[in-house]
Amino acid sequence: MPIPSRRGFVKNLLGGLWTGAALLEQSMFRANVARAQSQSTPNLPELFDIEKVADGVYAAIAKPLPLLNCNAAIFEQEKDLLLFDAHARPSAVVSLVSQIRRTISKKPVKYVVNSHFHWDHTQGTPGYRRIAPQASVISSVATRELLSSEAPKRAKQSIEQALAQLPDHRRRLASAVSPAEKAYWDLMVRDTEAYSTEMKSYQPELPNITFEKDLILHDKAHSLHLAWRGKGHTAGDVMVYSPEKKVVATGDLMHGFAPYIADGYPSLWPGTLRELARFDFDHLIGGHGAVQHGKQVVIQKANYLEELTTRVRAASQSGQTVDQIQNAITPASLKSITGGYGDFLIGSLSKYLLQVPGASGASILEGAVRSNVADIHSRLGAA
Ligand SMILES: [Zn+2]
Repeated sequence: MPIPSRRGFVKNLLGGLWTGAALLEQSMFRANVARAQSQSTPNLPELFDIEKVADGVYAAIAKPLPLLNCNAAIFEQEKDLLLFDAHARPSAVVSLVSQIRRTISKKPVKYVVNSHFHWDHTQGTPGYRRIAPQASVISSVATRELLSSEAPKRAKQSIEQALAQLPDHRRRLASAVSPAEKAYWDLMVRDTEAYSTEMKSYQPELPNITFEKDLILHDKAHSLHLAWRGKGHTAGDVMVYSPEKKVVATGDLMHGFAPYIADGYPSLWPGTLRELARFDFDHLIGGHGAVQHGKQVVIQKANYLEELTTRVRAASQSGQTVDQIQNAITPASLKSITGGYGDFLIGSLSKYLLQVPGASGASILEGAVRSNVADIHSRLGAA
């Protein structure tokens, strides 16, 4: 996948959505919430690109933002909708539901599934509670526990961290020279302000239906298999699989970015990915990045995690420090990266994750591997 030019990329971003954050913040929850469920609200910014994946199955691909949203998978049932994942903030949910009303269906939302407990997949759930109060919120047992124990402090941390960076963002904006830099730092400032204002009073919305391994929802349009197949990105990742449509939605267990391992199980994750690959699907809607077709990247990612974990473990046992291990494990030294997965990651991270203007593909990949090495080192014993 080619890397888009930084300038064009930021320009697209500005044209498409960023006035959205401020707009949403000011107006959304005062008056528009109920309207989003019942009618279209064309003045809302579009935070997602919606694409049809199969009959009655759509992917809502999140446009890049500093405080990023996850993708959603939309399953249209006979009389209602199932939405897989709930983004970083309630206003993103309202924006998405409004976009669905305009472009796909006015059927009510009946189910919301949280793939895992992370902030960018669950903090929008209160938005569904307001615009679809009758909807059930579903997760694994482990995810509900993690949401209840971790989510409030994670949300608080995310706001504190964002606000702590504001002075630096403002300084960089003031000294930015090129239009691309100005646009980038302006977006950083405005999105940080909008996010922290909206999320100040956030309280997690806990799922009201949980399951251990399998839950099947039977509908005339299709059956949906909600499945937990092992620990991976977190302890509780679930997927939604439609055998009739040959589509699976996976959250961050499988997505287009480099894996995020800080809450992960590097020794177990590859096995869970191989379990995922046993499902008979043609299309995969991941938690971030583009829709994937076929299983090639799933296997590449399993191989990458395996190779990295093996090397980090061996180096750690021989007494090397994290710094030394990070310096030794370069992208070029990884077989699993040089076979195509590295190019895939560069293309995907450049297009779907906000990057500092001018960042090269090689530096993006190197940064991803370094951070993966550090996280694997800290999670070697996770089981
Ligand atoms: Zn995650």
